[in-house]
Amino acid sequence: MGRIHVLDPHVVNQIAAGEVIERPASVVKELVENALDAGARRIDVRVGDGGRALIEVADDGWGMDEQDLARAFLPHATSKVESVDDLLHVGSLGFRGEALASVGSVARVRITSRPSGAEAGWVVEDFEGDVRSPTPAASSPGTVVRVEGLFAKVPARRKFLRTAATELGHVTTLLGRFAVAFPEVAFRLVQGTRTLRDTPAGSDRRARIGGVHGDDLAASLLEVRGEHLGFHLEGWVGPPSVHRGDARLEQVFVGGRFVRDRTVSHAVRQAYADLLPPGNRRPVAFLFLTCDPSQVDVNVHPAKAEVRWRDGSTVHRLVQRILREALEGAPPGVSVPLESSHPRPSTAEAVEFAFTHGVGRASPAFSSAPTPGAGRVAEGPPGAGPSGSGPAESPPARRTGEGLRPVGQVLGTYLVLEGDGEVVLVDQHALHERILFEEISARLREAGALEVQRLLVPVVVSLGHAEAALVREQAETLRTLGWIVEPFGEDAVAIQGLPAVLSRPDPEAMLAEVLEVLARGAAEGLDRASLVKETVDRMACRSAVMAGDVLRDEEVLALLERAEALDHSHSCPHGRPTRLTLSRGLLERWFHRTV
Ligand code: ADP
Ligand code: MG
Repeated sequence: MGRIHVLDPHVVNQIAAGEVIERPASVVKELVENALDAGARRIDVRVGDGGRALIEVADDGWGMDEQDLARAFLPHATSKVESVDDLLHVGSLGFRGEALASVGSVARVRITSRPSGAEAGWVVEDFEGDVRSPTPAASSPGTVVRVEGLFAKVPARRKFLRTAATELGHVTTLLGRFAVAFPEVAFRLVQGTRTLRDTPAGSDRRARIGGVHGDDLAASLLEVRGEHLGFHLEGWVGPPSVHRGDARLEQVFVGGRFVRDRTVSHAVRQAYADLLPPGNRRPVAFLFLTCDPSQVDVNVHPAKAEVRWRDGSTVHRLVQRILREALEGAPPGVSVPLESSHPRPSTAEAVEFAFTHGVGRASPAFSSAPTPGAGRVAEGPPGAGPSGSGPAESPPARRTGEGLRPVGQVLGTYLVLEGDGEVVLVDQHALHERILFEEISARLREAGALEVQRLLVPVVVSLGHAEAALVREQAETLRTLGWIVEPFGEDAVAIQGLPAVLSRPDPEAMLAEVLEVLARGAAEGLDRASLVKETVDRMACRSAVMAGDVLRDEEVLALLERAEALDHSHSCPHGRPTRLTLSRGLLERWFHRTV
């Protein structure tokens, strides 16, 4: 019988006030928080025109009865706190009873809800502050909040809204954070017929991070865990070889709430100090802190985006220590177990993404091998895949510049080489991917755009409407990346040319991947440099030799020689190492040849 009550004015005065509703993403944030507070396990968000026209959030939580619906739009009406004392240990995401009232005053809002256990539901509407009484309505268990025409009657606020694409980008980013914070909840974001996020419920945080930010990134993260004086930390953090040009993937959650927190950021920065390459690089770190609600004040920021710690120094110490321990034990670029003739690589060798920094010469071997089948105008020997393009004069000693001699390939995946007193295993895919990434980045840097291989016969690909539109919007970026793609009828495009550096292009599949990266990037509001970098990353991965590809000795040599021309060949662009060195000393100890 009704959970919601209007707060006592004396409690209201203790609440950090401020404008909560700024843009569609702030509405989505409040509605999703409400759904989570209501115990939802599935949350569907639908937007129209980036949320400018429509925002609808549907959940399967415990819902509201008639009496609650009659109060839901009242200012300071909440079921979550009662007294000033409650504000000192808030266990829910919401606590101010302001969100629905604020949204209702600047849009047309309809809430349909059916509480768990009830036979039917109720609907209530708020037309820019004009609240109607609840009426019975058919509905499934849970709550649907529909918000139309945000700021339609408030032109001064409406004019601060950005383009639909930008607003949608904010919503997408926001849902990505909720998804990472609540792996046990299924989230879906839909605009029109396009599903922008669809993350099924699960329990594994790493899988969820992968679903949102890419499996390769997720796989590279180290899992850390620790506790100190009642503060508990769980984190998935990048090794020093994985870093970014901004702090977007440095995400801190306190009790499930995404916050910007100086104490934690500072501790992260200290943990990674001297491990990351210079130039303002930021690590990847998803950190989840929990503690007794009385240890943290969430009532300090109008949008609840900051917290105040009771004991900030304990939090700082915990985060810094746990991260530092994990990072010091993290595999460096080159894996050199125990003792070895090679010195441990310095942290300066941590991989720097070549798009922002740079690497040395790029050797043309492999990368300019032509596409099988696709008739091309370009020069170069015809042949299959990444083959036969070793150096013109094969070195008679058949050793790489480092003095490594190919012995063979094992498990279809690893190259085995013998050096001076050591055996080296190389992950052929990871190495080739790294080479391609560096070479493509170097070419982009030097020439400003990738060289195009024109196709004799264009490949016509039919795309969805959205993808075809994306091709038109991103024509310039595509051109920079070596793609010549022209509109062909309504929803199709003709691939006239593709990047010459790709060694095994399947033009259609590769274009689909590139468009996927561009679509995701556009939705997340990535800048052009990051978009290009991500696309290059993807092209390198797809074009690299795969585990299972059989390489001839000359091919192995050519691959390693190209690697030697690069600075960062000891780990792939995702930070996985590419080689493992077993020294004679180590083998002798394993086999008890020494005492
Ligand atoms: P707050 O979340 O701070 O309490 P809101 O204005 O966001 O304030 O919501 C007011 C009240 O409406 C909440 O306290 C809750 O009881 C109820 N409510 C809002 N959304 C939902 C929902 N999706 N499911 C169940 N109850 C909800
Ligand atoms: Mg709320």
